[in-house]
Amino acid sequence: MTQIARLLAANDGYAAARANVTSSRPGRQLAIVTCMDARIDVFAALGLHLGEAHVIRNAGGRVTEDVLRSLAVSSHVFGVDTVVVMQHTKCGLAGVTDAELQRITGADLGFLPIDDHSAALREDIAVLRTTPFLDRLRVIAGFVFDVEIGRIDDVVRWEDPD
Ligand SMILES: [Zn+2]
Repeated sequence: MTQIARLLAANDGYAAARANVTSSRPGRQLAIVTCMDARIDVFAALGLHLGEAHVIRNAGGRVTEDVLRSLAVSSHVFGVDTVVVMQHTKCGLAGVTDAELQRITGADLGFLPIDDHSAALREDIAVLRTTPFLDRLRVIAGFVFDVEIGRIDDVVRWEDPD
């Protein structure tokens, strides 16, 4: 079976057993920004269920323009007030440079490589806190997920003082 056929066959079983969630508003007013890494099962790792959180993923779990675009919608349209940015150990974007990634990929892009998780999380959370249209956010946390043992290091926290 091809990759695509496998996906569609699996969907038959899924659709038959699926729980339906009617509200499009995340039930826990929560958005998770994390890496696309195949080892992170976001819902299982954080005890989340269908319908409870927005999950925004990209390489590194970095706060990019497109993450800001998604969070603008999360907060203003869907009532999200809490954001968790979750990077992880053994990340493909850690310990490499923009120049190396540009050479490997042939893409002339800013890859936002991670030199130090704590510093990168502080940087990304500062961007979220100071983006004027994200003024409805009340809590922002920065986590590092250990892909080998599944534990989370709670690295940075910001809570709206008002
Ligand atoms: Zn990663």
